[in-house]
Amino acid sequence: MIDFHSHLDLYPNAPSLLPRVAKQNIFTLVVSTSPRAWLATSRVFAGYPNIKVALGLHPEIAVAKAAEMDLLVGLVAQAEFIGEIGLDGSPRFKHSLALQRRILDVVLAECERVGGRVMSLHSRGAADQVLDALEAHPKAGTPVFHWFSGTKKQLRRAVDQGAWFSVGPSMVASEKGRQLVSEMPAANVLLETDGPFATKADGTPWFPWETGQAAQALCDLWRMPVERVRAQLVSNLKTIVPGLSTADGIE
Ligand SMILES: [Zn+2]
Repeated sequence: MIDFHSHLDLYPNAPSLLPRVAKQNIFTLVVSTSPRAWLATSRVFAGYPNIKVALGLHPEIAVAKAAEMDLLVGLVAQAEFIGEIGLDGSPRFKHSLALQRRILDVVLAECERVGGRVMSLHSRGAADQVLDALEAHPKAGTPVFHWFSGTKKQLRRAVDQGAWFSVGPSMVASEKGRQLVSEMPAANVLLETDGPFATKADGTPWFPWETGQAAQALCDLWRMPVERVRAQLVSNLKTIVPGLSTADGIE
């Protein structure tokens, strides 16, 4: 269907998955973890108009990739999508929050300078700080919070700032996740898997075409049949990716 936050480049057999992803999904956004990875993956994944590779620097590896900050900023103008960027304030990564914030601020400033971008954002344990950064760069573009795990208050703040959300099967597996999804505006919701990082109960990764459980949760929360949920999601996708041709990949 739609996977708006996949780490498709990190599956062991990534190139062999491309034809199936292109065929089964209307659209897949492959987020990268570093600008060098974006350069390499963009080359390997070229030729599939409904698979886009987003330019990013994952906050969990901010320290290891800090030297790529200038490269990241330099590439924003030529990148159609940005991600994965953001902040991680969880216990393992909060030591680097100041550096993470510096990287996020320069990327957002460059996004503003080039007229705005759609951005897939990580915000674990740092939703307010990400929202502060977005508030400081109001013309950076359209933020899509992936796997939002903040409080309801933070969610309302994000909604007030015009944020979008990508929701995956792992998120809707928890009651807290479902409650957050129920408060998101339907017109600002997309699907994701976050595979191969996000996995099924048996430890195997979600594949980009396996968003069915998230779509089913939306049916329950929105009290809509699956066809209407699909129509809503496709309409949302066309809003956020206006140039998208849906000639391919509708299944
Ligand atoms: Zn991710």
